[in-house]
Amino acid sequence: MAGFVHQVVGSMSQGADGNPTVAMIEAGFAHHGLHWRYLNLEVTPQDLPAAVAGARAMGFRGFNLSIPHKVAVIEHLDGLGRSAEIIGAVNCVVAGQRGLVGENTDGKGFLASLLEVADPAGQRVVVLGAGGAARAVAVELALAGAEHLTVVNRDPHRGEDLAVLISNRCGVPADYRPWGQARSDLYPVAPDAAIVVNATSIGLHQPDLMPPVDPASLRPGLVVADVVFSPARTKLLTVAAERECLTLDGIGMLVNQGAEAFRRWTGVEPDRGVLRSALEAATSGPRR
Ligand code: NDP
Repeated sequence: MAGFVHQVVGSMSQGADGNPTVAMIEAGFAHHGLHWRYLNLEVTPQDLPAAVAGARAMGFRGFNLSIPHKVAVIEHLDGLGRSAEIIGAVNCVVAGQRGLVGENTDGKGFLASLLEVADPAGQRVVVLGAGGAARAVAVELALAGAEHLTVVNRDPHRGEDLAVLISNRCGVPADYRPWGQARSDLYPVAPDAAIVVNATSIGLHQPDLMPPVDPASLRPGLVVADVVFSPARTKLLTVAAERECLTLDGIGMLVNQGAEAFRRWTGVEPDRGVLRSALEAATSGPRR
C-alpha cells in the first residue's frame, strides 16, 4: 500500500515497563481494523514538557498519563474536562479543535463498570482511600448523583480534603472517617450504605491482604467494588462474595477507562470484550 500514515496515541509515565494498557488498546485497534499505534513511553518528570511538545509536533491524537505525570501535565495543556478540573488530575489527553484537552477517565471507567450492576444516584456510598484513584471515583460518583459519600482514609488530611472537595465542588454531602492504625481497627460499613469501593492500593499484588473493613458489616446485596486489578479477585472481593455481596473487580474499571479513551481518540466504540481479554492475558490475572 502506498505509504499511509499511522495515527499515534500512547502513554507517558515513569516506570512504564509492564503497562498492560498497550496490549489492551492495540488489540482494539487490530480488532476494529484501525491503522493506529499505541506507544508505551518512558518519560521523566524533567522531560515531560518536551515530551508533550513532541506529541503536539508529531500530531499525536492523544495520550494517557500515569505516575508521576497526572498533575504536572495540566500546565502544558489547552483545557480540561469538568471532572478532570475538579479532581485536579489528568490521565487522558485528547487532541482536537480545542488543542490538547485533559480528561480523567479513571472515575468514568469505574462508573461505567458500576452502572452494569447498580446506579449510584440517590445512594449512600463509602469510598476507602483518598489518593488519586479515590478522588477520581468519588468525584464521578458525586457527579452521577450519589446522595452521600463517606471517605475513609488513614491520612486524615487527605481524607478530609477529599470530603471537602466533594461537598464544595460537587454539592454532595460528604464526611471523613478515620482509619485506626491498629490491625484490629476494622471499619464497620453502615447498614444504610449501598456501595463500598476500595480505592486504596491495599491488596495490589498481595492476594492475602484486604483493607481493614469489618467482614460482618458486608451484608448480602451490598455492592463491593475494588479498583485493584492485580489480582483481579482480591481478598476483599472473595470475602464479600462469600457474604453474598455483588462484587466488581478493578479489571472492569481499567477496561472501561481504556474504552473511554479509545472512543474519544478514534470516534469508534470499542468491543469491550476484546479489550478485557487482551488485558487479562497481559496481566495474567485470574478470570471472574
Ligand atoms: P495513591 O498512592 O494516590 O493512593 C493510595 C491510597 O491507598 C491512599 O488513600 C493511601 O492512604 C491508601 N493506602 C495505601 N496503603 C495503605 C495501608 N497500608 N493502609 C491504609 N491505607 C493505605 O494511589 P492511587 O490512588 O493512584 O492508586 C490506588 C490503587 O488504584 C492502586 O492499586 C492502583 O493500581 C489502582 N488503580 C486502578 C485503576 C483501574 O482502572 N482499575 C486506575 C487507577 C488506579 P494514605 O492517604 O493514608 O496514604
